[in-house]
Amino acid sequence: MSDISVVMLGTGSPRPNLNRSQPAQALVVGDQTILIDCGEGTTAQLMKAGIKPESIKYLIFTHLHSDHTMGYAQFLLGGWGQGRSELTIIGPRGTKDFHESILNMYSYDIDYRCSLGRSGAGIRDVEVIEFEEPGELIENPLPYKITTARMIHNVPTFAFRFDIDGKAIVISSDTSPNEAIVHLAEGADILVQNAGLTTGKKSEALEKIWEQLQKEHCSPTQAGVIAKKANVKKVVLTHFLPEADGRIALQEASAEFTGEVIVPEDLQVINVG
Ligand SMILES: [Zn+2]
Ligand SMILES: [Zn+2]
Repeated sequence: MSDISVVMLGTGSPRPNLNRSQPAQALVVGDQTILIDCGEGTTAQLMKAGIKPESIKYLIFTHLHSDHTMGYAQFLLGGWGQGRSELTIIGPRGTKDFHESILNMYSYDIDYRCSLGRSGAGIRDVEVIEFEEPGELIENPLPYKITTARMIHNVPTFAFRFDIDGKAIVISSDTSPNEAIVHLAEGADILVQNAGLTTGKKSEALEKIWEQLQKEHCSPTQAGVIAKKANVKKVVLTHFLPEADGRIALQEASAEFTGEVIVPEDLQVINVG
């Protein structure tokens, strides 16, 4: 049986934040790492976590919002520069266009580097697997079952469940509360759950969009309710705004869920056991 862990590479949001990088998680299974989302700073976060970016051959996008994709260009080009020679990315419809637009944007740069003798393998031959419908991932290049569920957000967004050696790891991605995440996370060992709508002081700009955000994200209390209903073992809260108070988030989720609640710092490793 492989050792399994989740590294919380980025626990932030679209808002610039010195303490919390944009959303990304590394799912480490034995000696293989799967990257889930790739917000700004992800490549550096991987290096800080002791994971070589070029060692990652699989990247999953839960959705194509900027805060979950902005680090892709550096992950793609930087990892290739470090010697990555194969890469598969998996994501909802639009992932292919997104990948190709990054390639086009830097085509002159890639051409130049290839002209110096570097192989185009790992950048010009990236395999992109798109899916549209939730359920078991049919075109699955990984050796374990992956199941998705459609979330409630403002672009097509999917939560992912990984069933590996009798353990289940679920990543909610961005969503407001819904029954599909409860169902997907049923009995999971770890649920990494969006809980970005923390209480407390808000900027004027944030106050203006707060009502809309409630239709697209969860509060820590709602994350606790999801964890309770799904009967998971541990819930890991994430997607925090710069003004979030982790202690309050912990209290709010713990008032609903009696299992373990984790409010992680960036780079925190959550062991699945
Ligand atoms: Zn989003
Ligand atoms: Zn987001």
